Amino acid sequence: MYALADCNNFFASCERVFRPELNGKPVIVLSNNDGCAVARSNEAKALGIKMGDPLFKIRDIVEKNHVAVFSGNFALYGDMSRRVQEVLRGYSPSIEVYSIDEAFLDLDGIDVDFDAYAKEISRECWRQTSVPVSVGIAPTKTLAKIASKLCKKYPKLKGGCYMWRPQDIEKVLRKFPAEDVWGIGRRMMRKLETLGVRTAWDYVSLPETTVRMLFHLPGYRTWKELKGIPCIEMEDMIEPRKTICVSRSFSKEIDSLQELSEQVANFAESAVTKLRGQNSIALEMVVFAMTNRFKENAPQAFSRCHVVIPDGTADHRVFIRHALEGCRDLFREGYGYKKAGVVITKLVQEDGYAHSLFSDMVALEKESRLSTSIDSIHTARSFMAPRGAERSRGAGSTRARTTRRSGRTSLGHPSTSASSDEILNPTVGIYNVCFSVCYQSR
Ligand SMILES: [Mg+2]
Repeated sequence: MYALADCNNFFASCERVFRPELNGKPVIVLSNNDGCAVARSNEAKALGIKMGDPLFKIRDIVEKNHVAVFSGNFALYGDMSRRVQEVLRGYSPSIEVYSIDEAFLDLDGIDVDFDAYAKEISRECWRQTSVPVSVGIAPTKTLAKIASKLCKKYPKLKGGCYMWRPQDIEKVLRKFPAEDVWGIGRRMMRKLETLGVRTAWDYVSLPETTVRMLFHLPGYRTWKELKGIPCIEMEDMIEPRKTICVSRSFSKEIDSLQELSEQVANFAESAVTKLRGQNSIALEMVVFAMTNRFKENAPQAFSRCHVVIPDGTADHRVFIRHALEGCRDLFREGYGYKKAGVVITKLVQEDGYAHSLFSDMVALEKESRLSTSIDSIHTARSFMAPRGAERSRGAGSTRARTTRRSGRTSLGHPSTSASSDEILNPTVGIYNVCFSVCYQSR
């Protein structure tokens, strides 16, 4: 059996932990740079606010209904996520953190009343963290995801749903939209529509040969999982990332090298922390900065700097040094930079990586020990930082600003956790100027 614990409207719920008077009231949380709604409480959803709606488009709804608007406080959400995970660890020896607000629990070998267990996990998460969590338990991960969604839809389930009897599963799948099934993406859905598949049950009812032929192994696995046959093991999803990108849009354009360098160094530091977290080392890095392409009259640039690191490393200092050099190379006076980022590529697992014959292994060992110490300082600091302290870190010259309706003042976004992960889009044709610098690590 598998359980999926999914925090309800996670970012909005985290904000409510510290503002309990907002329970039952519409709350939204904005993306970096206060652009779009990225989390909505149920009350905000009921007002018709959609995921990703830009604030300027929903301003009328927000003002008319006194929606509480928060700037994303990603350091807080990361911390709350760790607290929820701590509670979950008490219920299974094997937990897999799937995203900031979701974790799978392997319940193999646990012999309890699973319906009561699901409700107890949810209740305990609420008691210890004040975050509402929906817990679905089912024979496969895909079905556990569906079970947790049922908890959100039906409050009488009290946050826990155990779904195992074939007749119950069939009843649920007959009503469950295929596009909401974990593993069925938009492209796959387009194909399914041509086959007349609307619900999860329609998909399960397709012949096995059709599924294998049209949707290959991933689609076939989902099909089997919906039938109650586990195919996605716990370790399947712990595959390390191949690229790590930390980037951010700035609330105000940056036109000084010092300020841009400060941001880029923070991005590099954050990216290396992620790199080290998955025990990888990297052989290449790209630093990029771009102007605001919507400002038609301003000079436009998409500048990037490609750095090769011949003897792969995961040393904070090496990456920060190269990021700063890259930033200096790509920066041009007279341009207002709206977004910048660092992409670390060519990742390989540290264990088993064969260094060059001429590498100074003693120096590498020393560097590795130093970086490990830096990691432990980071960890200690993130646990000790009081609420609010982490937010101002790295904000540099970013000005304090006030969120729209809530009147809450914040000191910019934290440098490390407000950044978004994404794959760098190599298409730069839309920009008028493209500077590109390439050099070898010294
Ligand atoms: Mg969630």
